[in-house]
Amino acid sequence: MAKKIKQKRKIVKKNKVSKIKKEPTVKQQKPQKVIININKLLSLEEAVKYVVDLSGEKGLEVFKYLIAHGPMEENTLARKLKFEKANAIRKFLYKLYNKNLVSYTKKKKGAKAWYTYYWKASPERLVFLIKKEYEDEIKQAKKSIDLNKANDFYICETCNRQYELKQALENDFRCANCNGVLMHMETSQIVGEKENRISFLNDKIRKLSEIIKIK
Ligand SMILES: [Zn+2]
Repeated sequence: MAKKIKQKRKIVKKNKVSKIKKEPTVKQQKPQKVIININKLLSLEEAVKYVVDLSGEKGLEVFKYLIAHGPMEENTLARKLKFEKANAIRKFLYKLYNKNLVSYTKKKKGAKAWYTYYWKASPERLVFLIKKEYEDEIKQAKKSIDLNKANDFYICETCNRQYELKQALENDFRCANCNGVLMHMETSQIVGEKENRISFLNDKIRKLSEIIKIK
């Protein structure tokens, strides 16, 4: 009996192995192709601003150069952009790398012990990041609309601070910061402004989506 069971197990094992071996050839998926309109992207004010805020004007220059010229070895990139040393350009590359706007691969040159870094830009990532910012703002605006519809708000017109009815009552309708008299806020106006902002952002998201195509 024991022998038979052992044999069965062996057969099962063999089958498993052959299955695993076959799988990759059966399941070959085509890699997704991302097509991106670089000129359109780099002409967007918010795209340029995002990169400059992240890595400065110099970082933008590095990013644009990598997009235009493709993956490049670090020292070559530093030389082309007239950086004194590769170390000096690394600061900007790392800032871009923090948001995955660039990535690197390292290779050993010959038998020597040090690595050479090749950097590559990922402009499609920039589209994703800006889109994410807009989507987050839309979420916030929607929350604010719900809040404004449900509550009464008061505002200090000097410091622009907003108070809920309960707080305003507790403070005797005075601002906790400057003691100014609080005014009742027209929530319909706030809601209207937020709704306008949401449709403005949705329009921006639509334009961003036109820049990037996944085939
Ligand atoms: Zn005030």
